[in-house]
Amino acid sequence: MMNKTALAIHGGAGTILRSEMTAALEKEYRGGLENALQKGFEILRKNGSALDAVEAAVIELENFPLFNAGRGSVFTHEGKNEMDAAIMDGKKLKAGAVAFLQNVKNPVKLARLVMERTEHCLLAGEGANEFAHEMRVEFEPDEYFFTEHRYRQLLTAIEENRIQLDHSAIRNPKSAIGTVGAVACDFQGNLAAATSTGGMTNKKFGRIGDTPIIGAGTYAENATCAISCTGHGEYFMLGVTAFDVAARMKYKNLSLEDASRETIERLTEINGEGGFIAVDASGNVALPFNSEGMYRGFVTADGEIVVEIYR
Ligand code: ASP
Repeated sequence: MMNKTALAIHGGAGTILRSEMTAALEKEYRGGLENALQKGFEILRKNGSALDAVEAAVIELENFPLFNAGRGSVFTHEGKNEMDAAIMDGKKLKAGAVAFLQNVKNPVKLARLVMERTEHCLLAGEGANEFAHEMRVEFEPDEYFFTEHRYRQLLTAIEENRIQLDHSAIRNPKSAIGTVGAVACDFQGNLAAATSTGGMTNKKFGRIGDTPIIGAGTYAENATCAISCTGHGEYFMLGVTAFDVAARMKYKNLSLEDASRETIERLTEINGEGGFIAVDASGNVALPFNSEGMYRGFVTADGEIVVEIYR
């Protein structure tokens, strides 16, 4: 018997207020999410793999400038775009990730190449860029990644940092919005997850977030679930959040929904802000978060697209 397919995506979590959103901008965000869902669902519908579906959806979101991944990535303290991405195949329990990547158009493609063409899980910095050249992936000049709104965010963050010595500027979730991710279950019941990000505005000193850390920001295993996280990455690393959902399913025998709820409670307990998207091998979907909003969407097994932003 054929399995029920499922696909869910996110475009980041944080303080997303209706009052700060114009109708035109909201339409643009919704359009970006819908396009990505359509791209991914098209693959699942034609009996393609969950892995291909999450990669295709994330590529679409990376190319969309309003989200903090690929084009539209936030700026580091030095005014650079350094990107992290990961992909995981729940059937083979294999993963590939990249961190500190510069000028690669679609970091998620390179993450998949790490998984399929190397013996490693995670490549960072210069080595990751060298690997990207070897794989002949597409590069783009700095100007491609530059977006006015992200640059203004950096200037504000730097300014606020100078005035207030706590981390409120960096912690301001508004500056963290936009990481993208996708999780899918295909007709064979295989699961996959992918996440891609520019990280956090004004990040310094070679900071790497949760996104490329398997088990923290990204995880997939057929026996339990596929997870892609977004939010203040440090807390997702401390809570090993993506794997936490899988562990609750495996060791406590919980449903996807119950495990997801408990994991969000745990995240809140440790002061982490954000959310994640989740699917299991029966095609169930969960999209929990504890922030004010999370750009998110899913496609039902019969192809209906649902997109939501606020609580
Ligand atoms: N989790 C990402 C990071 O900390 C940021 C985000 O989700 O927006 O790098």
